[in-house]
Amino acid sequence: MDFSIPDELKQFVDSVRQFRERELMPLEQEFLLKGNFTNEQRTELEQRARQLGFWALDVPEEYGGQGMGTLATCLVAEELYKHPAMFDFGGSPEPALYEGNEDQKKRYLRGVIDDGKRSCYAFTEPGGGSDFARITTQAKRDGDNWIINGRKTFISEADRADFCILFATTDPALGGRGITCFLVDIGTPGFELSRPIPTMGDAWEPYELTFEDCVVPDANRLGEVNGAWELASEQLTHGRLKIAAYQLGIAQRSIDLAVEWAKQRVTWGKPIATRQAIQWMLADSAVELDAARMLVYRAAWMADEGQHIRNEAFMAKLYATEMAQRVTDRCLQIFGGLGYSKEVPIQSFYRQVRVWRIGHGTGEIHRWMIARNMLGLSSRD
Ligand SMILES: Cc1cc2nc3c(=O)[nH]c(=O)nc-3n(C[C@H](O)[C@H](O)[C@H](O)COP(=O)(O)OP(=O)(O)OC[C@H]3O[C@@H](n4cnc5c(N)ncnc54)[C@H](O)[C@@H]3O)c2cc1C
Repeated sequence: MDFSIPDELKQFVDSVRQFRERELMPLEQEFLLKGNFTNEQRTELEQRARQLGFWALDVPEEYGGQGMGTLATCLVAEELYKHPAMFDFGGSPEPALYEGNEDQKKRYLRGVIDDGKRSCYAFTEPGGGSDFARITTQAKRDGDNWIINGRKTFISEADRADFCILFATTDPALGGRGITCFLVDIGTPGFELSRPIPTMGDAWEPYELTFEDCVVPDANRLGEVNGAWELASEQLTHGRLKIAAYQLGIAQRSIDLAVEWAKQRVTWGKPIATRQAIQWMLADSAVELDAARMLVYRAAWMADEGQHIRNEAFMAKLYATEMAQRVTDRCLQIFGGLGYSKEVPIQSFYRQVRVWRIGHGTGEIHRWMIARNMLGLSSRD
């Protein structure tokens, strides 16, 4: 068994570290106090990243990207998420866009890769997010068009998006197997960002979206009619693994900060690092982080070998998101009152990791899927 990371990849990740230290770290205090970067700051950072060649990293070379594999993508995500702004390099399309026809690839996929266009991904509705079959936003065929009506909620990045990857029912009788995917441009009449939803995360302000008699041409249907299930399940698998990789960066930075603090904070004449209570929190955190890292790297390696990683991605995301919650909690505790303040990033990590136990499938649904796989059960059992 070979656990080594190729030298070339290590050097690349080191250049990402330098980007984080030079471009992101000087903005950290401002980020912590304001709670987010402005859209202008994010756009400037993306442009700077692009100048330095950090663009479309995971995009296949045939589409003008850098063709980096899943392990590389995870290592880059891990490095970037050591900063609480949770900044991602641009130019990486949602994988579903690779399933588009030639015209859609030209207009949407290449738009993201070449021109930095952005998408949002609208699945969740006020009636529920875990259960695909409960989607009620409806698309009705009208000649060469579809008329869309309904509401989506908690849609991230909608305010920065150029278009929306929308999931709507086209055959309610088929439940989750009657859902179709559409590409809807921001500004299409009948499609509105109805309101932002303030959340406990710094870098998160998802939106509610409404569709009222919104006319979308059939040319903007992504994939087959009633075919969104297949599109979504593959896409979500790779998204889940990337989310798991984010947790590694968050936990590593939190531990690094806590170690430094524990060595310098003195009580009763000794650094708190000499106390068993503190040492155990650090040791448990290090062990759990390492276990999560193994799950993420193994799944990434399998994906790069061309193997299916659905179950491995469920396991990696489930464990890594819960690990990050425990680790950030312990590290905040080691910092005492300072950990609760906006003068250090721990509180931001502590609040922000919470969303990952919910988004892209909750922990409960992940456990259910893993158990179903073990037991050989289907969704109807
Ligand atoms: C900040 C943020 C950003 C988001 N961004 C997006 C986005 O960009 N696009 C998007 O489409 N969605 C997004 N979401 C929504 C997210 O994906 C959903 O919140 C998530 O899928 C859960 O759906 P729900 O909130 O409707 O919970 P529900 O599905 O109503 O579940 C409620 C609770 O019941 C549990 N539960 C449900 N069914 C079962 C079961 N069968 N067995 C055991 N337990 C069960 C769940 O685990 C959960 O604890 C975002 C959410 C947040 C908070």
